[in-house]
Amino acid sequence: MASVTFDAVSKRYGEVTAVDDLNLAIEDGEFMVLLGPSGCGKTTALRMIAGLEDISDGKLSIGDEVVNDVDPSRRDISMVFQSYALYPHMTVQRNIESPLLVRSYHVDGNDKPARKLTKAERDERVAEAARVLDLEPYLKRKPAALSGGQRQRVALARAFVGRPKVFLMDEPLSNLDAKLRAQTRIELVELHDRVGTTVVYVTHDQVEAMTMATRVAVMSMGKLQQVGTPQEVYARPVNTFVAQFIGTPPMNCFAGRIAADSGRIEVEGGTLPLPAGLVATPAAGSAVTVGVRPEHLTIDASGSLGVEVRAVEWLGHECLISASIGDATIVIREAGMSASEAGQGMRLAVDPANVHLFDPNTTLRIG
Ligand code: ATP
Repeated sequence: MASVTFDAVSKRYGEVTAVDDLNLAIEDGEFMVLLGPSGCGKTTALRMIAGLEDISDGKLSIGDEVVNDVDPSRRDISMVFQSYALYPHMTVQRNIESPLLVRSYHVDGNDKPARKLTKAERDERVAEAARVLDLEPYLKRKPAALSGGQRQRVALARAFVGRPKVFLMDEPLSNLDAKLRAQTRIELVELHDRVGTTVVYVTHDQVEAMTMATRVAVMSMGKLQQVGTPQEVYARPVNTFVAQFIGTPPMNCFAGRIAADSGRIEVEGGTLPLPAGLVATPAAGSAVTVGVRPEHLTIDASGSLGVEVRAVEWLGHECLISASIGDATIVIREAGMSASEAGQGMRLAVDPANVHLFDPNTTLRIG
């Protein structure tokens, strides 16, 4: 097991800066999710850890070792891809065993030279990986005779069998259907709890990040936006990008202005309270971006904000109500069935603890 540290790491492809001055310390044993939209540089960051991409600038370390110039085969990492890349002509047993046949390992202690494993040692490791990933009944089958989820587990077992210091995973669930994805998320967390290996996991799916990560690193356009536990990035997003990337539906963000008496925020259709615990209130008259999550808007006849309902979507356990505030469309989450209808007026209340304020120019959090 090992930590992974990006120290001012950049990666440029000609004019394109795929990763821009990344500083990120991934702790030993952590399940770190690199999260962001397509093209934000998360795969490039992962490939730099694997040694599949050169580093243009900065220093990348695995444990105490700077690995900028270390060959991928010497980094002691395993990578699981979106396409499982199993050998179709080999049994599950042989697929899992395959990395052990080509690589040498420091089995006799780090001071002794690495060597190839014996047949008995290989069998023992394959048996352990198969047990951990519930693959014992399938060892004699070929991949074609397995379900998508079982194939994914074989790919994980093959990564696990070399007992790497770091597991790298690039969107490993994206080929699975929704039900299997949900199940495999739980299995991955259980696997991580059992083996305790550092995991760096790349996805654009914020649900995967929120459910599996010990910490999430949110990226946009090559830059790290925020790193924190899922609870931290949800509760205190540092800018409007993170606010709107985390959460489904995303946080409502709309224009407001600090009222003349400074006690409230004026928005189209009414006012909202200033956030609780605001350190420095912007001057009266300042333009602000207000953020409120859909679950924090409460339908309340005496609420301070009036909106007109545009649509009501019933999802079974809850309704999503769309309404307009000026040019922005906001979404309100209501448990169960809704009595609201399109075209109707509605009043909303928000607790000050659930109001977020951002600077409309920099997009950064004010409070
Ligand atoms: P996705 O989820 O679509 O894979 P990503 O967030 O993983 O996206 P990267 O694959 O890391 O993003 O790409 C980051 C940026 O670098 C993109 O603008 C991409 O076009 C560019 N890029 C990646 N690889 C190369 C390459 N080999 N040559 C030139 N540009 C590249």
